[in-house]
Amino acid sequence: MKSVISVLILLAYPFFLLPQEVLIPLVKNNYAKVTSYDELSGYLQILDNQSDLLSVSVIGKSVKSRNLYAMMFSSDNNWYNKSKISVLIFAQQHGNEQSGKEGALLLAKELLKPENKYLFDKINLVIVPQLNPDGSEVNERRNTNNMDLNRNHLILTEPETQALHQLFDKYQFEVTMDVHEYSPYGEAWQKFGYRKNADITVGTTTNLNVSEEIRRLSNESYIPFIFKYLGTRGFSSFVYCPGGPPGIDYFRYSTFDINDGRQSLGIQNSVSFIQEGRNGIDNFVENIKHRAEGQMNGMRGLLEYTCLYKDKIDSLVSAERHKLISLSAKQMVSIQSEHVVNGKTLMIPLYSYSTGKDSVFAVQDYRPVVKSLFDVQKPFGYLIPKKNSELIDWVDRQALLKFFYKEYSGFRIEKYTITEIDSIDFEGDIIVNPLVVKPTVVDLISPSDYLFIPTAQLKGNLIVLALEPKSMLGLITYKNFAYILRKGEDFPVLRVVKK
Ligand SMILES: [Zn+2]
Repeated sequence: MKSVISVLILLAYPFFLLPQEVLIPLVKNNYAKVTSYDELSGYLQILDNQSDLLSVSVIGKSVKSRNLYAMMFSSDNNWYNKSKISVLIFAQQHGNEQSGKEGALLLAKELLKPENKYLFDKINLVIVPQLNPDGSEVNERRNTNNMDLNRNHLILTEPETQALHQLFDKYQFEVTMDVHEYSPYGEAWQKFGYRKNADITVGTTTNLNVSEEIRRLSNESYIPFIFKYLGTRGFSSFVYCPGGPPGIDYFRYSTFDINDGRQSLGIQNSVSFIQEGRNGIDNFVENIKHRAEGQMNGMRGLLEYTCLYKDKIDSLVSAERHKLISLSAKQMVSIQSEHVVNGKTLMIPLYSYSTGKDSVFAVQDYRPVVKSLFDVQKPFGYLIPKKNSELIDWVDRQALLKFFYKEYSGFRIEKYTITEIDSIDFEGDIIVNPLVVKPTVVDLISPSDYLFIPTAQLKGNLIVLALEPKSMLGLITYKNFAYILRKGEDFPVLRVVKK
């Protein structure tokens, strides 16, 4: 009897002690089908149950009430450890870009291996594997409200982007990566006979109001490290450069708008990246194993660099953020800019449809430099009329610091008057460009009619870009806010400046 019991225990032993082997949905599906929302939910729950390192939380709901999951990795009991650096990786804002999500799910399992625990001695990590589950289920770029989430980070009208920014505002991550795919299969490229070919492209912030030191570190050190990391693991890489084909459309390093996942966080002086993997021809599962593994390795490279240079990054971000929250006079903010050439030729790796081989193409009209066209002096703050509920709601969605206004000695209030509404070219689009008379001093009759938004806060530059009437990236360039601008009238948002 005794021996029978021990045999039974021996037989049962592995099932008691060893965690059940977790199969990644994509692998389980034999790479023939991408991970569905239900499969993703189930997988995250199993991982969560099996590891103390990971806890999965729901940061919000999609339009169709699907969960927006955050995988929170930490070796501490409470997720946030102030002495560590906080990293946020988020994927699949665009529902038809599947490999970012798949890469994030591969990475999650990888990170739970004991040999990778060293990363969490230095890092608090959050991975949001799927920001647009509704789009993903139908393989569509946009969310259910037909909004492009990656153009929504300034106005924040969608529940998905709101959830991401609430998470960011809570922990103020020092390092972020927004994971996408690029599609090089368009008609123009086919006619041209070549297509872009890099497995992974990575770019960083280009808005001129992001700390120059942070941009330099990102371009000269972080990105080359990630490329090297990818290269030694069999993945080709290149700088993120939308545009082309050469001679038909110009190449630019990237947009400088702050309404996307990268720059809306970068403008708060975090070190922020976009990663794009090459999409499959069928937009779906073609080459999905290589695509998902490439995405995973790019994210992994970001974590390795962050771990290696944690102290350096931490102190740079904290110094540059201190500049944003301190009251220093004479700070200028660039509110109109354009891409210009710098005399350098871009040598871009392309795949030739006719020979089936890789080649390199020299792009002459390459505009990697952003040049300011118009600067304004950052005011002490802005006054927003309380009766404008759209603006007040926006202030709340952005979680801006706001106060009742009291008149302070040493400060004056200015207003803009719109004399004409002209237009300006913005990366090929024509947008409004109001002509304004130089701000004139106003005597505010009733301070209680206004809300005061100081610019000495982490989102200080974002506030200026959003509220200045001549800003190319301003709220008035969105249809919800366009009515605020009226020819012959005063602009309703007022500036508070030092006398
Ligand atoms: Zn995308």
